Amino acid sequence: VKASNSLSFSLQAKMSRPVQARRLEGIDKNIWVEFVKLAATYSKVNLGQGFPDFPAPDFLTEAFTRALSGGNHMLHQYTRAFGHLPLVKVLAQFFEKLLGRDLDPMTNVMVTVGAYQALFCCFQALVDEGDEVIIIEPFFDCYEPMVKMAGGTPVFVPLRPNPPKDGKLMSSADWQLDPAELASKFSERTKAIVLNSPNNPLGKVFSRRELELIAELCVKHDVLCISDEVYEWLVYDGKQHIRIASLQGMWDRTVIIGSAGKTFSATGWKVGWVVGPNRLLQHLRTVHQNSVYHCATIAQEAVAQGFQRELMLYGKPESYFVQLPKELQQKRDWLVQSLDDVGMKPIIPEGTYFLVADISQFKSDVPDVPNSDEAYDYRFAKWMVKNKGLAAIPLSAFYSEAHKNNYTNFIRFCFAKEEATLKAANDILQKWKQEKNS
Ligand code: PMP
Repeated sequence: VKASNSLSFSLQAKMSRPVQARRLEGIDKNIWVEFVKLAATYSKVNLGQGFPDFPAPDFLTEAFTRALSGGNHMLHQYTRAFGHLPLVKVLAQFFEKLLGRDLDPMTNVMVTVGAYQALFCCFQALVDEGDEVIIIEPFFDCYEPMVKMAGGTPVFVPLRPNPPKDGKLMSSADWQLDPAELASKFSERTKAIVLNSPNNPLGKVFSRRELELIAELCVKHDVLCISDEVYEWLVYDGKQHIRIASLQGMWDRTVIIGSAGKTFSATGWKVGWVVGPNRLLQHLRTVHQNSVYHCATIAQEAVAQGFQRELMLYGKPESYFVQLPKELQQKRDWLVQSLDDVGMKPIIPEGTYFLVADISQFKSDVPDVPNSDEAYDYRFAKWMVKNKGLAAIPLSAFYSEAHKNNYTNFIRFCFAKEEATLKAANDILQKWKQEKNS
C-alpha cells in the first residue's frame, strides 16, 4: 500500500508541472475548429469555410491518377526536400513569365505543405524575439498566432471602409488604408509586413497606388514583405492582380506565397510554394528541412503537370486560370443578388471566393443572450446555422482583439460552390424574407 501511495504521489507531482510551452499562451482558440464543427452539425448549406464543393479540373485529377498508377513506382518515395524537381522547374518557368525576371528553380522556389506551411516557414525563418510584424486588418486569422509563436509582436493596421455616398452597394475597393496611419506603424523594430492581395476575407485587390505606398515604406524602413497571393488568379471585372515583388526595390525583400489548393480547386492536396530571392529562401529552407522535410510526392507531380498544361495555354480561353475566375464571377453575382434581395448588404469583392455582407438590419431576428459578451456577428452566425441551416463566418474573427468590436456587423460567405448550392442558399434567404414580412 505504501509503495503504491508513494508512486501515485510522485505521478501527481509530475503532472502539476506546466505542460504547455509559453509560446502557446493565448493562441489556443481557433475559429475554424469551432465553426467547422457547427457547420458539420447543423448546416444544410455550408458557405462558411473556404473550399470549392465542385470537382477539381479533370486534367489535374487525371494527372494524379497517372502519377499514382502510371508505372513510376518512385513517385511513392521521398523526393527532393525543397520541392519535387518537375514542380520547382515549372513553377520557376511560370513565375519568370509573371515577374519578368530569371529564376533558379533550386534557390528561388520551394514547395510547402500548402500556403499554411509557407507562412509558418516565413515567420519562423525571418522573425525574431522582439521584432514587430505589421498585419493589415481584416486578415487571414493564422498570421497573428504564427507571428507570436516566432516571438514577434503583431502590429495591426485596419483597412477603413468609406461607404459610397450614392447609396450604391459597397465594393471591397472602398476599404482602404489610411496612408498616414500605415506609415505610423513602421519603426526600427518593424521586421516585416504581411500583405494579402487579393485579400481574404474582404476580396480586396490592392491597387498599384496602394502597393506602391506599401513598397515605398518597406524600402524606406528596410522591411521584408510576406506576400500571401494564394488568390492570385481569382480577380474579377477585368481587374489585374499586381505582384508587389515586381515593384521597384521589392524583389529582394519579398517572399511570394501561393497555393495549388486555391489555384486548382484542390484544397485537400495541401501543396503550396514560396517564390523569392535566395537570401530569404535559404532561411525558409532551414525551417522546412527541420520540420516537415517535404510534402507528398504524388501531389507535387500532379500539380507540376497541371502547371505544365497552364504554361502551354497561358492567357488562352482554355486555360483554367482564365476559366475559373469567369465561372466564379458568375457565382459571386448570384450570391450578391441573393443577399441584396433580403437586405443583407453585400460588399462586392474584386477578387477571392469570399464575400462579406452587412447584417446590421437583422438584429431583431437574433435573440439577445443575457450576460453574454459574445459579439453580435458570432451570435448571428451561430444562430443562423442552427436556425436557418446556412453556415457563414463572423468577420470579427479576422480582427485583432483590440479592433474586433468595431467590426461586428458583418459575416463572410464563400461562393466557390456549385450552382445548386448557391440556389439552395437563395431558397433559405427567400424563405427567411417571407417569414420576416408575414
Ligand atoms: N492564405 C490565405 C489568405 C488563405 O485564405 C488560405 C486558405 N484559406 C491559406 C493561406 C492557406 O492555404 P493552403 O490551404 O494552401 O494551406
